[in-house]
Order: sequence, then C-alpha cells, then structure tokens
Amino acid sequence: MTTIAGNLQQVKERLWRACDGASRGSAEVTLLAVSKTFGPDAVRQAHAAGQTAFGENYVQEGVEKIALVAESLPRAAIEWHCIGPVQSNKTRLVAAQFDWVQSVDRLKIAQRLSEQRPPELPPLNVCLQVNVDGGPNKAGVPPAELPALAEAVAALPRLRLRGLMCIPEPAPDFESQRALFALARAAYDDLRARGHTLDTLSMGMSEDLEAAVAAGATMVRVGRAVFGARAPKPVASPAA
Ligand SMILES: *Cc1c(COP(=O)(O)O)cnc(C)c1O
Repeated sequence: MTTIAGNLQQVKERLWRACDGASRGSAEVTLLAVSKTFGPDAVRQAHAAGQTAFGENYVQEGVEKIALVAESLPRAAIEWHCIGPVQSNKTRLVAAQFDWVQSVDRLKIAQRLSEQRPPELPPLNVCLQVNVDGGPNKAGVPPAELPALAEAVAALPRLRLRGLMCIPEPAPDFESQRALFALARAAYDDLRARGHTLDTLSMGMSEDLEAAVAAGATMVRVGRAVFGARAPKPVASPAA
C-alpha cells in the first residue's frame, strides 16, 4: 500500500542518495511538496509525516487550500510557495496569502507584490524564474537579463530576494538534464558574485531531482512522487 508518508520517505531516500553521490550534505537540499490538484487532506497527511513546505501552481486553488488547511492547522505551521505563473490581477491575493513566490519573471509583477504585501506580514520571499533553455514562449527571464532584474527586485522594500527557480524541458538522459540545471547554477553563482545574498536554487521535480541535486539545487519541488498521479486538469472555461 502506498501512502503519502511512505512516498515522502522514499523521496527523502532518493534525496539522501543524490546528495551522497554529489558529496553534498543532505541538509543542503530542502523538499518542497507540490500539492497542486490534491486536496487539503493530502496536505494534512504530508504535514503529519513531517513535511512543512508546500507548493501550489494555480493561485485560486492555492488560496482556497491555504484557508481550508488553516481550519485545522495553525497558518504558521506551513510555508506556502506559489510556483506557477502570476498575472497582475492575482498579485494582491498572492502577496496576502503566500510566504514565497518562486515564479517572478517581470519587474512589474515584483513591484505589485511589494506594494501589496500586507504591512503586518514579513517581507515576501521571492525567487526569479530563469529560462535556461531559451524557449521563446516559456516563462522565465533569459540568464542575460537576470542581473538587472535581480538588482531591481532586491531594492523593493517588501520583498526578500532568495534565489532562482527553473523548469527546464525534460532532457533524454541524466547528463543532458544536468547540463541544463548547471546553467541555472551558473546564473545563481553569478548573482552571488555580484553581491546578492541568496540561499535558494529551486530546481528538479519527480523525474529529475537527482540531476538537479548533482548540479547544485538547494530545493527540489516534488509533486507526483509524493502525492501520486494527478488527474488531468479539466479544460478551463472562459473567464466570466
Ligand atoms: C507540478 C510542478 C512541479 C512538480 O512536478 P512533479 O512532476 O509532479 O514532481 C514542480 N514545479 C512546478 C513549477 C510544477 O508546476
């Protein structure tokens, strides 16, 4: 029988082996459990098994889940990360409800998040999403534009720039996947060399977390390997 607790244990064992293989300490890599499409009970089960950081892709779904989970667990027991695209009309919700946003790729969105972060909350933790494989239609900033964006975001008063996030295309084998992740690591090291105090390089998912750890990830975002297969997302009806 597979359970969320059992799956979590297996993912942690994969992480330990990957860290060991890369001569890294297992404390260097944080596990973010991606709970998109799963309900609040799945989050509670994972939390009962010791998991405290969760990622959501869709703002509306995430905000509803945060409220439902908070009915039975203190809000502070869980760190909620927004890892999906953020449109301008959703920044207020995100700024009020999430602890982290990993998918910032435009200054305008960062400015709105900073302005809209409620004063009673600590600064919002932010990662810039970097597009390492250059797909023109993909979210994320090209590495060449990162220094300017990082400088501008780091200056915003209600944000705390923590690092980078990337979602490269799946590659055919471990080495080519690792080479893509290494581009993100190089961009991260470059920003640190420019004086930014960063501690988070978020990359690697259920299929490729080993390659990401080998390339220097400090956070992996794992959905299916923790919660099981996702039901296909229903086709969205046009916004009313
Ligand atoms: C869904 C998702 C994940 C998790 O993917 P799995 O393949 O289920 O592990 C990680 N990051 C982002 C941005 C995602 O959308």
